[in-house]
Amino acid sequence: MALIISGLGASRGIAIGNVHLLLRSSLEVYERTLYPDEISTEVKRFKSAVDRAGKQLHKIQDSIPPEAPKEIASFIESHLLMLKDSMLSKAPIEIIKEIYCNAEWALKLQRDKLIAVFEQMEDDYLQTRQNDIDHVINLIQKMLFDHQYEVEKEIQTLRGSIIVADDLTPADTVVLQHQNIAGFITELGGPLSHTAIIARSLGIPAIVGMQDARFLLKENEQIIIDGSEGMVLAGVDDKTIKEYKAKQREQKEERRKLESLRDVKARTKDGIAINLQANIELTDDIKALKQSGAQGVGLYRTEFLYIDRDEPASENEQLSAYKKVIRALKGLPVTIRTLDLGAEKEFDPKYKGPLVQNPALGLRGLRRSLKDTELFKLQLRAILRASIIGPVRIMFPMITSHEELMMALTVLDQAKRELKEKDKEFDNEIPIGIMIEVPASALVAARFAKQLDFLSIGTNDLIQYTLAIDRIDESVNYLYDPLHPAVLRLIQLTLQAGNRAKIPVSMCGEMAGDPRYTRLLLGMGLRHFSAHPATVLDVKSIINSSSVKKLEPQCKRIVSAATRPDKIHQLVDQLNE
Ligand code: PEP
Ligand code: MG
Repeated sequence: MALIISGLGASRGIAIGNVHLLLRSSLEVYERTLYPDEISTEVKRFKSAVDRAGKQLHKIQDSIPPEAPKEIASFIESHLLMLKDSMLSKAPIEIIKEIYCNAEWALKLQRDKLIAVFEQMEDDYLQTRQNDIDHVINLIQKMLFDHQYEVEKEIQTLRGSIIVADDLTPADTVVLQHQNIAGFITELGGPLSHTAIIARSLGIPAIVGMQDARFLLKENEQIIIDGSEGMVLAGVDDKTIKEYKAKQREQKEERRKLESLRDVKARTKDGIAINLQANIELTDDIKALKQSGAQGVGLYRTEFLYIDRDEPASENEQLSAYKKVIRALKGLPVTIRTLDLGAEKEFDPKYKGPLVQNPALGLRGLRRSLKDTELFKLQLRAILRASIIGPVRIMFPMITSHEELMMALTVLDQAKRELKEKDKEFDNEIPIGIMIEVPASALVAARFAKQLDFLSIGTNDLIQYTLAIDRIDESVNYLYDPLHPAVLRLIQLTLQAGNRAKIPVSMCGEMAGDPRYTRLLLGMGLRHFSAHPATVLDVKSIINSSSVKKLEPQCKRIVSAATRPDKIHQLVDQLNE
């Protein structure tokens, strides 16, 4: 009988494949005391394990597909360097000789020693290297445990598998996609974590927040995941597999029909033109954006230029990344969001500030940029310089106060002045906007609107901060509700502020790309949507089959104070019928 396990659907689609458990935690290691005559064999065993680990890493390096992000190769390079370092290749040998213990135990003792040293370090960048040390030590431990072990085989066998892991980083998600995995399941994380967002943009069916997944599912068993339903089926019979294969085909057929809408304008049945753009994050997303027929980039997340690398990208590297997108967009607008590090996005390795308990409420987004104005200015100069080749807009994330906006605009002026001094050209009239992601900024949106060219509602964070729900904490995900009356009220306030100031208000959070909310948002007055490339066509198909005139009175009722919160879901369902 099939076992049905639920999690949270993070990226839709059906995947059928065999489970591959990703062992991210360390292997259990036991101590064994050696006889003196065993020492030299043990040392040889250790050396051979280190040697094989090195060969494996070189092989992996050679197998990285050319289109893979550059950072992947540099991760592996740094692991190779660590492996060669005497702290890993020699120190355990001394321990074996000194205390007559097995190689695994010596390696464990050395790991504990290194980690203790790392923990004392004030430098957060070095602290983050703890993870790398563990990765390399785990690899040697695996070599000691199984001298036939080959990472390469592990990688090859990933093709078509469903990865089950405790957690995956955004970088992991990208690497796995290059291995053509069928889907993934994680025990941690929520549907709004960046890993989930990347999974959606790469089109990998995914389930997150599935507690104990690695214990409930067995290595190599065939399972089905349904990313739309957040459901996993294990122990399935042939009949069920057939049914799901048929469903997979149906979904592909629906997709094909949607694709025929690609070159059709987004326009409601009563003739209102809607601006439908897409969010992008990786350069790979440009292709998906083009396929979606989106009318520009409503949100270009730029964190990839900073995270998982030793140094933030230089001005020229940023410039060429932006130019690539602007050129590919051929005259359509590109909204570049300035750096939004912090919260669940890894900190810049160079960041020297204290580690905080509550990063979502800490130094993130624009606050972070204003603390390091040189780094901020570098990005602004790159965006400004890119603005001469096509329409670009600058967008500041996570802003809460007018003072922050004034400071950001001052830094922007300095960046412009520096470029002028060097005779570098830029669009002096470049439109400036902010993301409305915090209740405070939605409440004073009218004030912001007076000074800006556009506003963009970031519902992922707006919902998180309004409802006090950590967007990556799976234990409170059930409270995450875009239809909460408080959230709807804040969206409405922002739309009204934009209307009064006669500036466009866009929405670029996940809510904008979820077809369940399209009609409600249209009826509330939203005219600029920026969705995932993967959902742009779904949203367009709803827009083109809706009439704003009909929706407006119904939506007014939904958002009005008179509606009981528990009725809102029911009324929104009725809108969609
Ligand atoms: C948001 O908060 O809605 C948003 C689009 O930004 P991010 O998901 O990158 O925080
Ligand atoms: Mg955000």
